[in-house]
Amino acid sequence: MAETFVIVGAGQAAAQATEALRRGGFAGRLVLVGDERELPYQRPPLSKKFLAGELPLERLSIKPPTFYEQARVELRLGVAAEALDLAKRELVLADGERLGYDRLLLATGTGPRRLTVPGADLAGIHYLRTVADVDRIRAEVGAARRAVIVGGGYIGLEVAATCRGLGLEVDVLEMAERVMNRVVAAELSAFFALEHARAGVRIHTQTLVSGFRARSDSPRQVASVETLGGVEFPADLVIVGVGVVPLTGLAAGAGLACENGIAVDEYARTSDPHVYAAGDCTSQPSLRYGRRIRLESVDNAFEQAKTAAANLQGGSVVHDRVPWFWSDQYDLKLLIAGLNVDYDRVIVRGDPATRSFACCYLRGQELLAIDCVNDPKDYMAAKKLIAERARVDPGRLADVAIALKDSVL
Ligand code: FAD
Ligand code: NAP
Repeated sequence: MAETFVIVGAGQAAAQATEALRRGGFAGRLVLVGDERELPYQRPPLSKKFLAGELPLERLSIKPPTFYEQARVELRLGVAAEALDLAKRELVLADGERLGYDRLLLATGTGPRRLTVPGADLAGIHYLRTVADVDRIRAEVGAARRAVIVGGGYIGLEVAATCRGLGLEVDVLEMAERVMNRVVAAELSAFFALEHARAGVRIHTQTLVSGFRARSDSPRQVASVETLGGVEFPADLVIVGVGVVPLTGLAAGAGLACENGIAVDEYARTSDPHVYAAGDCTSQPSLRYGRRIRLESVDNAFEQAKTAAANLQGGSVVHDRVPWFWSDQYDLKLLIAGLNVDYDRVIVRGDPATRSFACCYLRGQELLAIDCVNDPKDYMAAKKLIAERARVDPGRLADVAIALKDSVL
């Protein structure tokens, strides 16, 4: 009898897995369960062109509707998977449907970390993860004058740039002492803070939100953001981007091992032999970094899903790649290769004033990671060197007159 594979979550990893399974020759029944109503779509434009109103919804789709028909994918959209019975190999959906499976792929992604301070449930306070979130924000943007953004990470800064483009006054409140603290070096944080200041965004670091105040004439509507330092920021609209948490409820409820994400091995296998997982929801071993890591990126979702698809069909493909990320803010393209962990020095290559430069992270002479601003050529060269674990001459690396590849020892 033909086998049944079920995928839970209809995002980036799920779309990739569906395609890879059919390409890999899987001919059995394939069911895709997603709690959002849309076909799998790309999230990166949500904080950028889609929020700006420059991209229609159809352009977000990862695959056109015809793909799912041709690939004979049974879609269950707008319905959450609520429970998983590993012993019976059965998934229970919110509408009561019970789906038996031979193999299951969990690709549930992450959800926004929520603020719990007083007033956090007032109208006008938004999170940004889905098309539905952006639709709600866009419905309010037109009438708004002042936006306060909580969190100066990827979402915060990308949304700040987009909101400025839409003509709003923007304040960004960041808890840490610098923006993008989690992902880039201090030199790069300083550069992006300056670029935002030039664009008219007011960035307030070391600023912790203590609550939200409602309007006196409309007690359910946010009027301002209060901070621990006592400063109050008037707001018509608040967008919160303070990080994400992996959606592990289904997996943990079924008894699968979870550890800052659904724990998988390098083959994308969970602690149950019939269940695999891929994308933002997983924590995975990294041979390169010698620890378990959880990556939040399109590239990881895409590649780990391909690995999972191959292994769901009996393969033994290992997922252990150099991670990469990007961010678009104004006309600046930030490209990051590698993880900046365990480095002992940062070398700035080029002059930030030219708006095209890089921060290179070294441990001894090994190039571990690079952040490149408007410099795709150095990014490509560095990515290759990072993968090869190349050793570089720091002096030559710092000299932009020398091609990056020629800094290799
Ligand atoms: P997701 O794409 O989040 O898909 C998971 C899906 O599973 C969701 O639809 C979720 O609702 C659904 N789901 C969860 N639980 C259940 C359940 N029980 N039943 C049914 N369905 C369920 N990354 C980059 O590399 N570059 C960028 O520029 C970038 N920009 C971004 C901008 C924004 C605004 C956001 C929010 C993210 C951005 N990312 C970016 C991150 C990137 O989108 C994610 O890393 C990627 O989407 C992860 O894919 P995934 O398939 O693991 O999860
Ligand atoms: P993020 O990149 O982790 O940034 C969150 C920021 O908010 C951090 O700087 C964090 O500081 C700060 N913060 C935490 N709690 C706070 C509080 N109470 N008040 C003020 N600041 C606070 O997460 P994100 O920007 O919310 O992004 C969410 C997800 O979308 C992530 O998976 C991200 O990778 C993804 N995304 C990616 C891109 C991209 O790759 N270009 C773009 C948009 C979104 P600390 O670091 O000190 O905790």
